[in-house]
Amino acid sequence: MVYQSLYRRFRPQTFSEVIGQDHLVAALRNAVIEERVGHAYLLSGPRGTGKTSTARILAKALNCVEPSGDGEPCGSCDSCANFESGTSMDLVELDAASNNNVANIREITANAALGSPGNRKVYLLDEVHMLTAAASNALLKTLEEPPDHVIFVLATTDPQKVLPTIRSRTQHVELALVAPELLSLHVEQIAKRAELEIDSTVIDYVVERGSGSVRDTLSALDQVVTAGGIPEHRGSADALVNAIVAQDLAESMAAVAETVAAGVDPKDLAYRTTRKLRDIFLAGAGVNSGEATAEELPELAEKAGEMTRAVNVRALELLGQALVDMRQAPDPRLVLDLALVRLFARASDSQQPQRSTKSASQTQSPSGGPAAQARAALASTQITDEPEATGVDSVESVVPPPPPSQEAAAADSVESVVPPP
Ligand SMILES: [Zn+2]
Repeated sequence: MVYQSLYRRFRPQTFSEVIGQDHLVAALRNAVIEERVGHAYLLSGPRGTGKTSTARILAKALNCVEPSGDGEPCGSCDSCANFESGTSMDLVELDAASNNNVANIREITANAALGSPGNRKVYLLDEVHMLTAAASNALLKTLEEPPDHVIFVLATTDPQKVLPTIRSRTQHVELALVAPELLSLHVEQIAKRAELEIDSTVIDYVVERGSGSVRDTLSALDQVVTAGGIPEHRGSADALVNAIVAQDLAESMAAVAETVAAGVDPKDLAYRTTRKLRDIFLAGAGVNSGEATAEELPELAEKAGEMTRAVNVRALELLGQALVDMRQAPDPRLVLDLALVRLFARASDSQQPQRSTKSASQTQSPSGGPAAQARAALASTQITDEPEATGVDSVESVVPPPPPSQEAAAADSVESVVPPP
């Protein structure tokens, strides 16, 4: 039997199954109930948050033969069955990333005028910002005078790149990253439906790895299931952490290369390294993150003494951002390498090595005690969960921005390391 990913197996089939997008779902359900669905919607948001799933449910609800009256599709009529098996003629999906030219759009718009078996025909154009200018203009013409029974749903991860004239012809709805609590609940329910036995450690792990994306969260769960547990790469981040503590760029990149070659996923490496650097930061302030054992604490505190607090915080900040960027990147390892380059391009900011005792850290940072620093450090590691982390300000205040000349020098050295595309 071919293994079907959990995300595909448990794709939401009704509006109420879409999680974390209440405003969008409520608006569409009401539009279906009141029969005033618009001719064009633009759904924007990070990948894996429900843009295409929602568009499919809308098409399904509009063509349901026996609608229940609450805006939801019935799920059992012939039309609904066709939608669930992916064979409905009332939904046309186009991936604009690979079909981005004017001929692709003309083909769609020419057919749009023709009738279809159901009530309404829905065209779902995914990654619509990838259309060429000519294709965008061809689409715009159709959006200006859409056939009566046709609805366009345009989905994009990058709404700023969509022609403003197209945006103004659509109802634009933004989808948000899904909150960790909602994702935890979702993972728990999916596990139950799939008859998987998982504990809270697995749930926490996959939710962190998913960073607010339902798809990425369930992919992480797929990986855990396939591997028979959370990948046991304990210690896999040690080489990289040691190289960062030693502030050695070449050694850091070598550590990444070796660890990845040994089969560790770059995202997993970045995640573990960030956690370890956080533990080091907290140990330097005399705080246990709760994840370090009593035996590990002295070693962590020693590492904190070897690296400056500024480098430690900067590393947390850059790796936290790298974790977010890696989700969209075709080559996640490159993102990690670049984060390291940026880290050491600015390492000249470094000040006195931090001490491992409480009092020393307090005298060094009059602006905040260990608790405030701990919050700042935690905020750095939580950037993956909350794009607008509340602690960012306090992190900024720990690391003074470099003067413009250093900024320029840093940018230069980044460019010199990156090969031209
Ligand atoms: Zn139905």
